[in-house]
This record gives sequence, structure tokens and C-alpha cells, in this order.
Amino acid sequence: MAQILDGKLVRDEILAELEPRIAALPRRPGLAVVLVGGDPASEVYVNSKIKTCASLGLVSEKILRPETTTTAELLAIIDELNGNEAIDGILVQMPVPPHIDSRQVLERIAPDKDIDGFHPVNVGRLSIGLPGPRPCTPAGVMELLRRTGIEVAGKRAVVVGRSDIVGKPMAMLLLHAHATVTICHSRTVDLAAECQRAEILVGAIGRPAFLTAEHIRPGAVVIDVGINRITERSEAAAILRNEANLLAEFDRKGKMLVGDTHPLDAMALAGAWTPVPGGVGPLTIAMLMSNTVEAAERRQGC
Ligand code: NDP
Repeated sequence: MAQILDGKLVRDEILAELEPRIAALPRRPGLAVVLVGGDPASEVYVNSKIKTCASLGLVSEKILRPETTTTAELLAIIDELNGNEAIDGILVQMPVPPHIDSRQVLERIAPDKDIDGFHPVNVGRLSIGLPGPRPCTPAGVMELLRRTGIEVAGKRAVVVGRSDIVGKPMAMLLLHAHATVTICHSRTVDLAAECQRAEILVGAIGRPAFLTAEHIRPGAVVIDVGINRITERSEAAAILRNEANLLAEFDRKGKMLVGDTHPLDAMALAGAWTPVPGGVGPLTIAMLMSNTVEAAERRQGC
């Protein structure tokens, strides 16, 4: 049975280490979070970021704008935040409504306030190994691996997914940590064979329980980045293979979260794995806080 890699424990460790660094700063770090439109999932994410800021003593500013906001209006907000000395980090919650040019928005954020690490300057810094903010979710995975004592150097790592926010930076960070990295995607021929070679398998796909026994090498470290919400009982029953005790929990809540790897197969086959929820998820916010504190230290010359 797989060892559970507990993201909440690692998150708490990371946040606790930030406290003395925040206390040592002449000015409290400031984070601005911009949310356009009323997507309920985005609102939940934004509120939990604001809440974590408050618990750490960071100054946060929540800027809510209606669905009808134009690209030009959003760019003007970013310009103002770029010039605001009290703000060290700017985050525009994605996805923005489809009429907004998200590329232009991300590129407008000053690179030294880009705590998501999505600005092309910071993508370039990651690529050539210069210091700078790293995208929070993959950075959180690296912290989890490091703090749970999982060796990366020399390992065969397979990342399934090649998005700019997870898959690609994840692969780059594993490469910098000296893994031998393969990136897979929807056009990969024989995904199962590629995954079977993985000593570290990262699923960042966005498809519930997609990676199953045929993809998981026995003993592999399985990192599940996916967060998929299941509300249909038939889908839950298929994923949980009609296991009565697991389905009873679904029936009680009427919903469940599942990752991109099959929870039963990962539990049975992996050497270690990150459950969903409670694995990778908690680390994303922790790394956002860490990136904000780092930006504040840099900007305050500490
Ligand atoms: P994207 O949709 O941007 O990317 C998905 C990737 O998966 C693409 O590269 C796509 O390939 C690949 N893919 C899709 N179908 C297949 C397939 N059948 N076989 C192989 N590869 C496939 O998603 P994100 O990277 O933004 O997110 C991935 C998951 O991680 C989601 O579940 C998301 O909710 C979750 N997530 C979790 C976070 C956390 O805090 N834990 C933070 C961010 C995301 P192609 O490029 O060819 O289309």
C-alpha cells in the first residue's frame, strides 16, 4: 500500500517558516488579487488566498470587477498596482472571461511582482535556472518531494500534461533537479508505456481518474495535480468500482473530488502518492505566500 504524501503537513511547515521572515521585514508584504466575473470556483480560490494572507499577517487587497470588464480596463488596474509601493505581488485569477486577452494581461504585470511566475521574463529565468518566482503548483510539488525525502536526481520522471502553468514548469523544475524527464500530452503515442517507465509520475491532465493501473509502475512516486469535481453518481460509482463504503461517502456528500490518477490503483500500486484532496492542492497557496514574501524581501532589499 502506498505511503500517503500529506500536502497539508508540508503546507503548514512552509507557512510556519515564513512567519519570522515576514516579521523581519520593515514593511508587511502586500498581495493584490484581481478577480474578473463571478465564477464561483474562482471566488472560493480567491477567498482562501485572502484568508491565508490574513492568517500570516500579509496585507491583501481583493479587487473584484464585473464580467463585462474590458482588457483595457484590466490593464489599467494592473498599471496602478505595478506603481503601488505597498503591493509586492499581483495575481490575476484565471480563467478571465474569454473576451479578455489573458496573454496581454499576464505580460503587463511587472516581472518583479509576478508571484505566479507566468510572465515571459520569469518563464525564461526558470528555463535557464536563474532565481525568480516559480509557478506555485509545480514549485509546491518540488517542496513536497524535498521535504518528504524523495530523491529526484537520476530518476526517470514522466509528466503527463504540458500546460504553461503546470506541465511545462513541472518538467523544467524536475529537469533542474536532475531527473530524466519525459513530457506526455494528448498526442503521445502509447501513453501507458511511457508512464510505466516512470519512477516519478506526475498527472496534470484534468481528467478524472484517467491514469490507472496500466500507467502506474509498481513502487513509483505518483504525484496527482488534477482536481476534478464529480457530482454524477454513475460516474462516482464507475470510478469507485462500486465499493460500497466509498460510495456511501459520495451519497452522503453528493459530490467528491478526484485527481487525474485512479485513487484505488494509485493506493494499491504506488510506492508513495499524493491523495486528492489533501496532496498537491494545499501546497499551491503555500507557494503563493512564499513567492509573495520573497518578492517583498527582494523589493525591500532584505
Ligand atoms: P490544461 O487543460 O491546461 O492542460 C491539460 C494537459 O493535459 C494538456 O497538455 C493536454 O494535452 C493533456 N491531456 C489532455 N488529455 C490527455 C490525454 N488523453 N492523454 C494525455 N494528455 C492529455 O490543464 P492544467 O495544466 O491547467 O491543469 C491540469 C489539472 O491540474 C486540472 O485538473 C486542474 O484542475 C489541476 N490543477 C490543480 C492545481 C492545484 O493547485 N492542485 C493548480 C492548477 C491546476 P494537449 O496539450 O495535447 O492538449
